[in-house]
Amino acid sequence: MKKVFIFLVLFVNFSFAKEVYFIKKTDKNQRNEILSRGLKAIAETKEGFLILKEKEEISKEEIYLGKFEKNLYFLTPRYEDTNLKICGNILYKEENTYLIEMDTNSPCLSNPNFRIHKISFEELKPFKTFEKIKIGKDPFVEDMLQNFDENLAIEEFINLVSYAESRYSSNIGCFSSVERAYNLFQELGLDPEYQYYSSKYAPNVVAKLEGIREPDKIFILIAHIDDMPKTPPAPGANDNGSGSAMVINLAKILSNYRFAYTIKFLLVTGEEQGLIGSTYYAYNSHQNGEDILGVLNADMIGWEGDGKPTSEDLDLSYDDNSEALAQIFEEVYQLYDGLIPPLLIYCPTNYYSDHYSFWVKGYPAIMGITDNEGICNKKGSYPYYHTHRDTVENCGNLDFFIKTQRTYMAILAHLSKPLCKISKERSHNFNFFDLTNFCPIKIEK
Ligand SMILES: [Zn+2]
Repeated sequence: MKKVFIFLVLFVNFSFAKEVYFIKKTDKNQRNEILSRGLKAIAETKEGFLILKEKEEISKEEIYLGKFEKNLYFLTPRYEDTNLKICGNILYKEENTYLIEMDTNSPCLSNPNFRIHKISFEELKPFKTFEKIKIGKDPFVEDMLQNFDENLAIEEFINLVSYAESRYSSNIGCFSSVERAYNLFQELGLDPEYQYYSSKYAPNVVAKLEGIREPDKIFILIAHIDDMPKTPPAPGANDNGSGSAMVINLAKILSNYRFAYTIKFLLVTGEEQGLIGSTYYAYNSHQNGEDILGVLNADMIGWEGDGKPTSEDLDLSYDDNSEALAQIFEEVYQLYDGLIPPLLIYCPTNYYSDHYSFWVKGYPAIMGITDNEGICNKKGSYPYYHTHRDTVENCGNLDFFIKTQRTYMAILAHLSKPLCKISKERSHNFNFFDLTNFCPIKIEK
């Protein structure tokens, strides 16, 4: 009887109450050092790290945030601060991002005025360093920009958004939209694959343009294709038909070239349910030792923005490990015409889109969005976020979207190192394409 009692007490302790601490950063890029000390870091902020412990034991440098028994969330209001006490128990605040313990029935969980991320208790992985490259004008990138067809880009946006009544992850329309993308990638000869991670949700789809020098080195262009709200219609034009349409459109253009490194075009689902598809993808990549050099995420790049106070720029969130990757946006923007100016935002507290799944695993990644939706105190919020009215029309003037696509294309091409162009007259069957134009038949390794 006594033994059973002890066991129960241990079990209760183990499964519920946990202690959470905070360690302040003394330096940027401190993750690897923190992890090397054997601390269980489960999240990183601008200021420091969240550390999880099973029992109370505090060291000098640690700040005790409290004990919790339910789920922990990060929450950032999209507009100015509202009363968050009704949400749950606030343990920590940094800028306008809150660490809150909430019940699964908290009224704040389904409130579209909040960006919310449920914290998984998986440990952060060490940073993989981004190798900075030299950027100079590239004739292939100039060629791509010259041949960028605005009308085709808009056509893909409209087609993707109108293809299904809803792309909510479990809706049949999400399954069919993923299948449509798969078929398009296949036509381009990009060897698409589905990635199933749940029986309820549509799978991820990933396509591959294999590098001809170092195919094991990979850059990823990612967007989530699923959308909101749960009840149809859910056109999800800005969020995130825009990013998904760009992934498909850039696959069409870039597949006319060959690069030193492999480019993966990744459309994920389950983003709106908590980054499920991208978490699964990043987890597997990390397990398999995939050599991901960098990840470009695009989420809500269709809306023209309000252009205040000056003309609209692309908000670009980066973490401690991704500053060099973000800076390439600035460098490339200076080189060519018709690109969108980036606004670089140091924002490790941007937990709210798929780049975060890669940050957890230590990969360099950035996220582009018209306006940062309140995250890291950056104002500007899309008025039709997660509503039935998130339509192509409500994105406004698509000039911003076009320039953003051109910018991502130029960045992705520079990073992956273009080597040659395939003749436009190539056959539909990639086994027989005409290599005589620019691509030599054998590329010296
Ligand atoms: Zn989104």
